[in-house]
Amino acid sequence: MRLSNVQAWYGDSQALFGVGFAVRPGEVTCLVGRNGAGKTTILRAIMGLLPRQTGSIILSGREASGMRPYERTRFGIGYCPEERAIFSSLTVEENLALPPAVCAAGMANADIFVLFPNLRTRGRHYGDQLSGGEQQMLAIARILRTGAQTLLLDEPTEGLAPLIVRQIEDALIELKRRGYTILLVEQNLDFVLHLADRVVAIENGAVVDDLETRGGEHVKARLLERLAL
Ligand code: ATP
Repeated sequence: MRLSNVQAWYGDSQALFGVGFAVRPGEVTCLVGRNGAGKTTILRAIMGLLPRQTGSIILSGREASGMRPYERTRFGIGYCPEERAIFSSLTVEENLALPPAVCAAGMANADIFVLFPNLRTRGRHYGDQLSGGEQQMLAIARILRTGAQTLLLDEPTEGLAPLIVRQIEDALIELKRRGYTILLVEQNLDFVLHLADRVVAIENGAVVDDLETRGGEHVKARLLERLAL
């Protein structure tokens, strides 16, 4: 996936100013930056969900700008927004039986329960009876059911206890091992550094840093400085 010179507006207010970066297949790329920097807007732009946007978004080698969101999902992209996209009045099993769109053979429930064992034991519970972490797992699981191989995840660890964060981290590591491509918005820097191959820092609607995480402590220091965390 490659974005070039992406600009976006909410009404008259410009939110993205020429964003460009690449997401390599099979890698985990993290978008970091302060609140309001434009990270969520970038995910929405990739999905074509903004009222007005320009620039180029290449998905699976094809120009996707101008395509409708449902057409973009055919490239195997799944978007998990910050507000978890689950049906709270349906059970876990029913949620998993109703994926939002199907573009290929989705991940089997048995496989999903290996990734997220909590969901197996909660199968007959309704969405609104789940903990925040379980809701997050279910939201990711629903995307996996669609057969998406590229996952756009907006702050999957926000507000979750460390133990649950660890479980989600393990699941994402396993997905990466299986060849999934992940673009993640994340504030938790340790989570980012455990998982990411590449970090793209966003400030005021533009890319201000784009670096590989192999540098370890050096990368952490640079991000801390960049984000003034
Ligand atoms: P956060 O971590 O707080 O979600 P973010 O980096 O994801 O921050 P965005 O949500 O993409 O930032 O917001 C980028 C800018 O666009 C901000 O100035 C925000 O106020 C504005 N914005 C976001 N959503 C809307 C909207 N629906 N209508 C108008 N302006 C919006």
